[in-house]
Amino acid sequence: MPLIDFGILIPIQYDKQERVFQALKEGTLARFPESQWHRVPSCTGIKREDLLRVHTPSYVDRLFSPAVEKEALRTFELVDSNGTFHRYDPSQAKRPLSDLLTRALAIVQGTYETCLTALEKGFAYFLGGGMHHAVPDYGSGFCLVNDLVIALRKIQDEGKIQQAWIIDVDAHKGDGTAVITYGDPTIRTLSIHMAHGWPLDAPEYDVQGRYNPSYTPSDIDIGIDSGEEPLYTTKLKEGLYRLEQFGLPDLALVVDGSDPFEKDELESTRLLALSEETLLERDLLIYRFLTERNIPSAWVMAGGYGKESWKIYVNFLGTVLPERLSHN
Ligand SMILES: [Zn+2]
Repeated sequence: MPLIDFGILIPIQYDKQERVFQALKEGTLARFPESQWHRVPSCTGIKREDLLRVHTPSYVDRLFSPAVEKEALRTFELVDSNGTFHRYDPSQAKRPLSDLLTRALAIVQGTYETCLTALEKGFAYFLGGGMHHAVPDYGSGFCLVNDLVIALRKIQDEGKIQQAWIIDVDAHKGDGTAVITYGDPTIRTLSIHMAHGWPLDAPEYDVQGRYNPSYTPSDIDIGIDSGEEPLYTTKLKEGLYRLEQFGLPDLALVVDGSDPFEKDELESTRLLALSEETLLERDLLIYRFLTERNIPSAWVMAGGYGKESWKIYVNFLGTVLPERLSHN
C-alpha cells in the first residue's frame, strides 16, 4: 500500500524494496533458486492484544475507531500549525486514511515473521519495517505503531525467547523504542544516530506540554556529530562491546536504516553523511559480531530516502546471502 494511495504526498518515495529484490535476484543470488532465499509474509494476524503489550489502551482504542484518521493525520504530519492540509490531497486518495492501520499491522506481521524466520534459520531480512518513532500513546515520524517492540513482546509472550537486543543504526534516534523499553531488562537497546537535528533538538516539552520522547535514553546512545563520520565504525564497535555486557540475547533485531547515506535526500538526514563503503562496513560489523556469538538476527529496512538507497541493502545482502546459501 504505497502512501500515495492515501493522498499522502511525501516527496521522496522510491521503490527501494522492489529495486533491492530485483537486483539480488538478477545479481549475486541468480544462481540460487528463489525458494531457497525468499519468503512472503502473510501480512495478517496481528491483533489488538498484540498492540496492547506496547501501546496504551486508550491509544489502541483510538486506532480501532474512527479516531484513527486523526491519529494518522498527526503521525504523518499532514496538518500544519494553521490547521490546513500539508502534503496531503484527499482528492488523490484511493483508500481511506483508516487503512493506514491495516498497512501498519501488515508491517508488524512482517517484522514478527522475520523474527521467527531468524530464530529458525539464524538470519532473516525484512524488506520493510522499522517504525521506531511510535511511543506508547501516539504515533510519530510516519510510524503509527512500533513494529519492533510489538514483534519482540509477542515472541516473548509465546515463550520462544526471553532476552532481545534492538540495534538501531538508522540516522534518526530510535526514540519511541527507547521510551517503550525503558526499564525493561529483557529488551536492551543501542541506538547510533545523528547527535543533532530532528527529533533531538526540539525542547523536552512542546508548547502544548507534550513530552519529546528523544529525551528518554536508550540503554546505549551514540550520537555522531557532523564531521565525526570517520569515527563511526569505531564508535559502533565500542557500543556493541558495551551491549554485550548486558549478557547475550536469544535474538537481535537490527533497525538497518540506509538514511545515514551521504546521498540520502531527506532534509532531516543531512547531518550524517556516511559513504557507501562505510555503510557496508557498518552492516558487516554488526552481522559478524552477532554470527560469531551465535545470536540469531532479524533485520528490518527502516529509513532510506534517496534514488540510490537500495544499493546499501544490496551491497550487504549481496555479500552475506550467497555465503549463507553456499554453506547450507
Ligand atoms: Zn530515519
